[in-house]
Amino acid sequence: MKVLVVGAGYAGTIAANRLARKVADAEITVINPRPEFVERVRLHQQIAGSGAAATPLTTMLRPGIGTRIGTVEKIGDGSVRLDDGVNIAFDHLFLAVGSTVEPLPGAIAVGTWEGARTAHTELAALSAGQVVTVVGGGLTGIETAAEIAEARPDLRVRLVGATIGASLSEGGRRRTRTGLARLAVELVEDTVEEIGQDTVVLRSGAELPSDLTLWAIVADVPDLAARSGLTVRPDGRAVVDDYLRSVDDPRIFVIGDCAAVPGARLACATAEPQGAHAANTLARLAAGRAPRPYSMGYAGQGLSIGRRDAVIQFGRRDDSVRRTFLAGRTGAIIKESVCRWAKYGARTANYAWLRGPR
Ligand SMILES: Cc1cc2nc3c(=O)[nH]c(=O)nc-3n(C[C@H](O)[C@H](O)[C@H](O)COP(=O)(O)OP(=O)(O)OC[C@H]3O[C@@H](n4cnc5c(N)ncnc54)[C@H](O)[C@@H]3O)c2cc1C
Repeated sequence: MKVLVVGAGYAGTIAANRLARKVADAEITVINPRPEFVERVRLHQQIAGSGAAATPLTTMLRPGIGTRIGTVEKIGDGSVRLDDGVNIAFDHLFLAVGSTVEPLPGAIAVGTWEGARTAHTELAALSAGQVVTVVGGGLTGIETAAEIAEARPDLRVRLVGATIGASLSEGGRRRTRTGLARLAVELVEDTVEEIGQDTVVLRSGAELPSDLTLWAIVADVPDLAARSGLTVRPDGRAVVDDYLRSVDDPRIFVIGDCAAVPGARLACATAEPQGAHAANTLARLAAGRAPRPYSMGYAGQGLSIGRRDAVIQFGRRDDSVRRTFLAGRTGAIIKESVCRWAKYGARTANYAWLRGPR
């Protein structure tokens, strides 16, 4: 059985490793644009210089799994075409290409490996008193602004978003603001409309100085599924059945940020259960057993506010928030453990998750 895994993020890596463990004779090849596994949950640390996000991919994959450095341009009927023109055939494919960032011209993307490396270089070149604007009031924006403010207290750091921490409870949001205030992050609740040479222009019409503008809104997905003729939602995510298989081709599993799974949010906490479940399903089918429908429930959200503070927001399985949250040093230890657990899960394929709400 020839299996291709397209994308070596959290979803693709755990899927490859779990399948290798369960189906001894599967011939698995992982295709990724770079020879590194990138912990996207640490990209804000990569930018600020407080942590490294890349690990050699070969150390993340079980022996026997092949790797091919390249980008898939199109998925056809039982084969893929790479950017160097080579075609590779498959019996089954895991589509795990994640999500992308489409910044306004003039801003650098926080959520991609290439963007994070550029941002790190540009940040290092700034001198005391210069202004960094982080665009996006979601968890990625908050984590990025805080990380930079902690690592570079000599800079002015501003976070701009329609709402800062919209996915948190009221208490969690208040506590997040307190943490950001401690790091002297300036909060602006507005939307960035345009980025000039040394400014950002807001919807309100205000024009603020900015020496470096970072785009921390992760919402788009690569158009590979759409380009390949798979059925996608208007947001570009590929539509799947109850077993995470493309509704157009049962040979193709779609997992992680690029999959249109009802109720799923963009998270490694989503990508890993999907990758593991898809591998389990293929292993069951290969053994002539009936597949089980995918089910996954959330426990909450975690966001770091620098290295010594974090907010752990508790939630329900359907991902709605509870009022309760935890913060401070204990929160920071839990958040760090979650990041390590995610990498450990991808590497070892040992991963357990909650069932979804009934
Ligand atoms: C700064 C930051 C902090 C975050 N913090 C958290 C957090 O605390 N908790 C949490 O749960 N989530 C967090 N997230 C979100 C989380 O990182 C993503 O949801 C997760 O990485 C999705 O995993 P994935 O495997 O679907 O995709 P990815 O991890 O993005 O991996 C996709 C892989 O596919 C590759 N690829 C893309 N196109 C192609 C192609 N055509 N051919 C071959 N390969 C391709 C990519 O280069 C990449 O290697 C954070 C994200 C960011 C940016």
